[in-house]
Amino acid sequence: MEEMPKNYDPSTNEPAILQKWLDGGYYKRREGVGDCTVTIPPPNVTGKLHMGHATDDSIQDAIIRMARMRGRSTRWVLGTDHAGIATQTKVDKKLKEEGISRLEIGRDKFVDACWDWTHEYGGIIVEQIKRMGCSVDFDNERFTMDEDYAQAVRKVFCDWYHDGLIYRGKRIVNWCPNCTTAISDDEAEYKDEKGHLWHLRYPLTEPVNGQDYIVVATTRPETMLGDTGVAVSPKDPEKAAFVGKTVKLPIVDREIPIFEDWHVDANFGSGFVKVTPAHDPNDYAMGQAHDLPQINIFDEHAVVVEGYGEFTGMTREECREAVIKWFEEHDLLDHVEDHDHSVMHCYRCDSALEPWLSEQWFVAVDKLKGPALDAVNSGKVTFHPARWTQTYTTWMENLKDWCISRQLWWGHRIPVFYCEDCGWEDALTEDTDVCPKCGGHHVHQDENVLDTWFSSQLWTFATQGWPQKPELLEGHHPTTALVTARDIIALWVARMVMSSLYFLDEVPFKDVVIYPTILAKDGSRMSKSKGNGVDPMDLIGMYGADAMRFNLLTLCTNNQDVKFDANIDKKTKKLIDSPRTEQAKSFVTKIWNASRFLLMNMEGYTPGEPVVETPADAWMFSRLAKAVKMVTEGIENYTFGDMARGVQQFFWNEVCDWYVEVTKARLKGEGRLQAQRNLIFVLDTSIRLMHPLMPFVTEEIWDNMPASVLDLDAEGNVDRAEALMIAKWPEPADYVKYVDEDAERAFELCRTVVSAARATRSRYRLSPKAELDVVVRAGAEDIEKLESLRSTIEPLANTASLVMGTDVEKPAASIAVVDSGVEVFVVLEGKVDLSAEKARLEKEIAAAQKELAGCEKTLANEGFVAKAAPAVVQKKRDRAAELQEILEALTAQVADFS
Ligand SMILES: [Zn+2]
Ligand SMILES: [Zn+2]
Repeated sequence: MEEMPKNYDPSTNEPAILQKWLDGGYYKRREGVGDCTVTIPPPNVTGKLHMGHATDDSIQDAIIRMARMRGRSTRWVLGTDHAGIATQTKVDKKLKEEGISRLEIGRDKFVDACWDWTHEYGGIIVEQIKRMGCSVDFDNERFTMDEDYAQAVRKVFCDWYHDGLIYRGKRIVNWCPNCTTAISDDEAEYKDEKGHLWHLRYPLTEPVNGQDYIVVATTRPETMLGDTGVAVSPKDPEKAAFVGKTVKLPIVDREIPIFEDWHVDANFGSGFVKVTPAHDPNDYAMGQAHDLPQINIFDEHAVVVEGYGEFTGMTREECREAVIKWFEEHDLLDHVEDHDHSVMHCYRCDSALEPWLSEQWFVAVDKLKGPALDAVNSGKVTFHPARWTQTYTTWMENLKDWCISRQLWWGHRIPVFYCEDCGWEDALTEDTDVCPKCGGHHVHQDENVLDTWFSSQLWTFATQGWPQKPELLEGHHPTTALVTARDIIALWVARMVMSSLYFLDEVPFKDVVIYPTILAKDGSRMSKSKGNGVDPMDLIGMYGADAMRFNLLTLCTNNQDVKFDANIDKKTKKLIDSPRTEQAKSFVTKIWNASRFLLMNMEGYTPGEPVVETPADAWMFSRLAKAVKMVTEGIENYTFGDMARGVQQFFWNEVCDWYVEVTKARLKGEGRLQAQRNLIFVLDTSIRLMHPLMPFVTEEIWDNMPASVLDLDAEGNVDRAEALMIAKWPEPADYVKYVDEDAERAFELCRTVVSAARATRSRYRLSPKAELDVVVRAGAEDIEKLESLRSTIEPLANTASLVMGTDVEKPAASIAVVDSGVEVFVVLEGKVDLSAEKARLEKEIAAAQKELAGCEKTLANEGFVAKAAPAVVQKKRDRAAELQEILEALTAQVADFS
């Protein structure tokens, strides 16, 4: 047998293994029994891998790899999103740098530039996903602007249009004046800002009760140019006399009415509220109810339009200052107060959004939301962790019509055509330049494109042949699981459920797995601008993909957020290190070294059944059976964090530290072949179990391993897979027979005794060769178990004598370890200079007592407790409690010697 290389180096080994997988065609879709289909949440085509993707993809790959090994029909669909607004912004910027304006070159050339950009920068993320070891079917990559995909999007639009679910209307939308497009409510981010409340005087056309003017309070004085009314609360008796009167709006001299409306809070400001229907959603509603004109004072860049004199051409900020100044100069500024309020910002460019009245397309959600709620309430779709169900249902219950038009050029253009000659309008799946009604040639297509989420809501089915090739979709929908981030539960997950139920009459996925948000070490969000982000590719470069993946999986617990343990250079923004990923790398190295050791001892080995020959075998096989169950169920139930920690504990502490250690001796004797078979059985099962979590190192080890019992067919012939990633999964049902609780208990007792001896050696710095006298006191049953393990315990604990019984006495000058319900006494007489040890301990006790007395004195001082900072007082109390514990432990140690 060829020897395994001494060192495993992820930076050279991983790419070589990857190539082997790709060459072998193992990533391709596989047919099998039972389905496992996962569609990857499409990253932006020009994006780069971030920690969220890395976590998401580690989870998905674990799911897919286990399913593949279990012989399931597996399909992991990869694709990217055209990301309308993000890509358009980037291309716009690039063209600007070249001195080219989007408006000059026109729509077609601009879209060409976007395609060029996509081809140039798209695919970086796909390569990164590949490097991570994600076993995606790369031959079937999809893009939300593919021809087939575009057809699906168009069909959905046309069907909803004809079914009356899509309509056009003039509404207030969240407008980004920088991106010059509408964005949906869910894409707006609220930020608290310090602002002011300006109290402006509006002169009454005729005095009321001897009053010449009223005072309105506003956070946005610039919008007063678009006021078309003033509202008061119907519950405010003092204002009744004003209702039905008018004011003369300053600057524009517009006469506007005062009216009552329930939207008004009588306690806000003066109780008079200016109404600007075109620039505020509430005012819009009031305007509708009272038939007020809607006056748009801003253009698409939020610059004041023609017709407002000196104010025309000003930005919102300039206009605000000018309006305040004008009111001041005309003695109409009553007063100003500080006022904090929350302002909506664009999620893409961070500009303050402008509520803006414009013509937009909407999806009416009334018919869609009921079924989408039922799907989750009835358990057809299950969230993991379950608490995210609430996020989904709350959003769904409060859902308003969805604004789907975007004033962009890059994206799916709205397939509505208009005839300028006869006024015909329709949504069509094929373009036309002739009017089907009048035969005229003056037909044009709607200028808007669809919201990116409109196309990505079809992701689970439009990537799999819908609607043209339904046979491709058959058996693979609903998909098994969607693994995604919590911030797109509303934007994406919910909409996928709605569209899938409408078009396929089934849910898009059975499970939704929400992974925790990975934050920077200090708990802040990772962001490019802050430079506190960790690039997964840097982690891979430093520690290997296996280590990164394994560490990320251990973080996937029930938590909402996790702080990622990485140090970043403040100046260069480069990764310095990530201690936790480094620990994961140590685990990878441990797996390699332990496997290498075993494989060096395989001379004379032939594959065959494992047989329980010793208590250690019985314990190990039972533990192995439980590990098989734990990993299988951990992946099935999406409890990755606990499972990953569990498997590390199992392999490192139980397999390597105990079983291999205990079994080593048997490799020298006549039981060698069976010991080899047992060891290879445990190793092979473990390597297969760890494969979905750390695919590279496990594949490389497996490649070096001889066939085990797992590779034998019914006739006992070796039938080994070409690669681990397509080898058979250890099924829990096949291992149940090894579960043996008694054997586990017995070996646990053995470990307790041996550990006590080892701990004593290390505490008193005794040589491992020093033989110890050990006495064990326990219940009758446990003593019986321990006696059966005597021949295992004696060499491991290196005992001179081992006395065990239910009523044995604690020997003099011994230390006691109590664990798992047994008492282990290790005799120190003759090993340790007891009097010196006792003196040392007594010195420590005296010091601790002195410090404790000091603490107590301070704490008894009422002046101190009253005046000192609570944290300082608490610190003293904690220290006092700590000293109490130290004293107890030291006293017990001294007692051990008597
Ligand atoms: Zn923007
Ligand atoms: Zn026509």
